[in-house]
Amino acid sequence: MDLTFSDEQQMIRQMAREFADKELLPTAAHYDETQEFPRELWQKMGRLGLMGLVIPEEYGGAGADTLSYVLALEEIARGNPALSTVMSVNNSLACYGTWKFGTEEQKLKYLVPLASGEKLGGYALSEPGSGSDAVNMQTSARREGDRYLLNGSKMFITSGQSGHVFLVFAVTNKEAPKPADRITCFIVEKGFPGFKVGKKLDKLGMRASDTTELIFEDCEVPVENVLGKEGAGFRVALQLLDGGRIGIATQAVGIGQAAYEFGLKYATERQQFGQKIFDFQAIQFMLADMATRLEASRLLVHRAATLRDAGQPCGREASMAKLFASETAMWVTTKAVQIFGGYGYIKEYPVERYFRDAKVTEIYEGTSEIQRMVIAKSLLK
Ligand SMILES: Cc1cc2nc3c(=O)[nH]c(=O)nc-3n(C[C@H](O)[C@H](O)[C@H](O)COP(=O)(O)OP(=O)(O)OC[C@H]3O[C@@H](n4cnc5c(N)ncnc54)[C@H](O)[C@@H]3O)c2cc1C
Repeated sequence: MDLTFSDEQQMIRQMAREFADKELLPTAAHYDETQEFPRELWQKMGRLGLMGLVIPEEYGGAGADTLSYVLALEEIARGNPALSTVMSVNNSLACYGTWKFGTEEQKLKYLVPLASGEKLGGYALSEPGSGSDAVNMQTSARREGDRYLLNGSKMFITSGQSGHVFLVFAVTNKEAPKPADRITCFIVEKGFPGFKVGKKLDKLGMRASDTTELIFEDCEVPVENVLGKEGAGFRVALQLLDGGRIGIATQAVGIGQAAYEFGLKYATERQQFGQKIFDFQAIQFMLADMATRLEASRLLVHRAATLRDAGQPCGREASMAKLFASETAMWVTTKAVQIFGGYGYIKEYPVERYFRDAKVTEIYEGTSEIQRMVIAKSLLK
């Protein structure tokens, strides 16, 4: 398997693996417990080039390919899933969006600090009343001279508290016949007048990644901060989700891999009935299925990433990878808790945390139901 990776891809994975082993695994439980954002670790990730992996070097990135990105992201997710959420949103959505759709000025002003890890980016599509049905958003933007005034609120925004720059989607023309043409994407800085961070949400998992509401009250955004064209925002949102879903699928593989590794180690240590529990075939079969399903998920992720690197359409493959890998992560982490027995259910052992972290991979960037809809639609083409 490794033979198919280039030297550079293997080097990036090794760098992320060592960082995860040394800095993330030993501290992840602490950040989960305190719900603190691990600012120093995020800064170190920036210095390692992990916050803008696929962005060209001239814009502050590492100039790597998508396959390198997923190899690194899996390692980060294995070490601290919450930081992989932050990394995925910054890379796949904030950075990639600004690179793909931004003007040269926007790239120099916003992409360079985001990709180099000096600033942290977010993506604000969901609202209190519209999640899966994102096109029905209520946040509006009205042009007044050389600025837009944004009004409304966004819900569940990753890095809402710790982030600095957000891609915000708002309705600019509610009369447009096609709902998708009603929406525009804006680059919004936290310091803009009328921008407020709402309450930080107390979550089941991914607790070191802050998730907040964002509130816009006549928030002033200069016209030069429109990303792409006015009325093209929904297409921007959807195109970014192709890459985003590869990121979430990767994260799910990393979470599952960690739970599997802890389960395997525990099975070879824990004794019952005078033997290692690994010697019971029931436990061996669980581990065999966990390893197999994880490998299948990983291959789907690598396939989607390889298609993307080849410049081919990968929306369906990204959805398949996300659907399969996230459901696998939930299944594998459930089995890991089972292997640990009662110890799996308490916080002194890591598997309950991976179990909690896994759940959201079936929800954000399109629920499993939405992925099935995307895949089903593609079957008729
Ligand atoms: C921790 C976390 C971080 C997040 N980060 C971000 C972020 O950074 N930016 C952002 O914009 N959003 C973010 N989200 C929001 C996330 O993308 C949404 O929660 C998700 O898209 C689902 O939307 P919803 O919660 O409104 O659920 P709903 O859309 O209300 O769905 C509720 C249920 O109905 C099902 N459903 C809905 N429509 C259909 C249908 N047509 N057919 C069948 N079933 C359907 C869903 O699958 C789900 O089971 C985050 C969410 C969480 C929990």
